Amino acid sequence: SNAASMGGMVNLTSFSLLTAVISLSIFFLLLKLMKTLSWSFSFRLVSQVNRERLWYSHLRPILTERQPGSRGSQAVRKHIFSKLDSLSAGWSVEVDSFISETPHGPVSFSNVLAVLDPMAPRRLLLACHYDSKFIPSDPSDPQKVFVGASDSAVPCAMMLELVTALDPHLKKLTEQISFVKVSRVTLQLVFFDGGEAFEQWSQTDSLYGSRHLADSMSRIPHPPGSEQSTLLNAVDLLVLLDLIGAPDPMFVNHFENTARWFDRLVAAEKRLHNLGLLSSHPKEQTYFMKDINMGPVEDDHIPFLQRGVPVLHIIATPFPSFLHTLDDTADKVHSHTVENLTKVLVVFLAEYLRL
Ligand SMILES: [Zn+2]
Repeated sequence: SNAASMGGMVNLTSFSLLTAVISLSIFFLLLKLMKTLSWSFSFRLVSQVNRERLWYSHLRPILTERQPGSRGSQAVRKHIFSKLDSLSAGWSVEVDSFISETPHGPVSFSNVLAVLDPMAPRRLLLACHYDSKFIPSDPSDPQKVFVGASDSAVPCAMMLELVTALDPHLKKLTEQISFVKVSRVTLQLVFFDGGEAFEQWSQTDSLYGSRHLADSMSRIPHPPGSEQSTLLNAVDLLVLLDLIGAPDPMFVNHFENTARWFDRLVAAEKRLHNLGLLSSHPKEQTYFMKDINMGPVEDDHIPFLQRGVPVLHIIATPFPSFLHTLDDTADKVHSHTVENLTKVLVVFLAEYLRL
């Protein structure tokens, strides 16, 4: 009887061992499956980002002088309209034009606004400025003009590439909203005019377009007819892109109340790195640094921030060395960095909008 119970014990031990091995194998198999699924989901999303299209189709037409009220400015607006018009998501595009006094006399400004679903109760704003600063040419090389590649032609091109890469998903999002009328957040693009000062940066000589838009949004009832809330109240978050394009940029968190959204950028960069989906990207955390303090930067988010809108400011700090010089040109732009950052933002938008 002793031997029999011993045999039973041996059987029982090997049985539990077998169960443990099988459970462990299933666990690792599931882990691998989850990683594969996560890879294929991320891959499908970010593989839609096209560096050539970003560069030649979206960026190149913006690399021109485009001061407020100029022919270049008008040409860039036309470029933005035609790109958005070619997409299937159904963008409602409008121009917010106004005249403002400047150190150069009265000037006509035009913000370009594009929203997927104007009736959606909440909006995620993705923005940059499309005007270029007045920088006099070098008399020894009068052909060379200031094109502001990083400031902010590249961010504008990234926004166009983002909505092009995500077009089928954004189309689905719009269809869902109009079909079930669920209260969800929609995406609005803002291309600000007059971000730059004409002379010396001051309260009155800078941020012409953003001051005008924040003010007008704070006067428009939303939903229409509402007595309590305005379009500005409908802004969930303002994501502002600026000074992007130079190699090895660093982006830091600027605001405590949006730190959780900054964390998403950090996480997206790490994830894409570990899945091997970024190029010329040495470490898993190369761009987005949470715990470095660079101090606040005055930019187009200020008029919104002052009215209580949560802001995520994605601006390279320290600033590129060629800032506001004739050398802010396309050949200084690192196309892999721009592609990588666009991929990070694709993941961010997909998560935020639940695409
Ligand atoms: Zn600038």
